[in-house]
Amino acid sequence: MSVAENLHIIQEKINASCLKAGRKASEVEVIAVTKYVNSQRAKEAVSAGIRHIGENRPEGLIEKYEALKEDGVSFHFIGTLQSRKVKMVLPYADYIHSLDRLSLAKEIEKRAEQSVKCFVQVNVSGEATKHGLSMAETVPFIESLQTFSKIQVVGLMTMAPQTDDESLLRSVFRKLKELQCDVEAKGWAHAPCHELSMGMSGDYTIAVEEGATFVRIGTALVGKEG
Ligand SMILES: *Cc1c(COP(=O)(O)O)cnc(C)c1O
Repeated sequence: MSVAENLHIIQEKINASCLKAGRKASEVEVIAVTKYVNSQRAKEAVSAGIRHIGENRPEGLIEKYEALKEDGVSFHFIGTLQSRKVKMVLPYADYIHSLDRLSLAKEIEKRAEQSVKCFVQVNVSGEATKHGLSMAETVPFIESLQTFSKIQVVGLMTMAPQTDDESLLRSVFRKLKELQCDVEAKGWAHAPCHELSMGMSGDYTIAVEEGATFVRIGTALVGKEG
């Protein structure tokens, strides 16, 4: 199927989830995760109306940026970020979704020329294999970023467990939403924290019902090569 057809289906499902949850569909942005596909396929996503591109490796981010940069398209770095790759990623990333440690914040602070929009990654499910701060660590961590002039915490991000258990997924997303509200309520200038980056191909409808403002969709939107 074409990317445009996939996007149409996804948008309909997002609309239905928003209706169910009493939300406005305009509150939800789709990030096309293009890590599995070439620049040509990624271009189809932009032609179909996508305004956000997500990549999880620095090389992929740069390749897609060079091929797709145009007014109104934002680039999101969604993968684990090694401190030594920060310098390479910063010129291309409008958003970093994987801020999960102080050493990484320090490197961003040192290398950035202007304020960087960051999501703090939270390991809500507590799985040992997942990156991210624990729920308990998140608020103190964000508080500790107050003195960092280059870091703006725009929201929280999580990766849900790989499961079909809808109630488990829902509880993970709901917990992240509660935590986001806690941070937002602090009123910290460096951490407006209005956004929630959660939901992928298999679980985005639940994430939207629970408050996602950015869903990160790869397979269901652009497919997977090979
Ligand atoms: C690959 C990836 C996605 C998209 O995964 P799909 O299941 O293909 O939609 C979303 N978020 C992150 C962090 C990823 O690495």
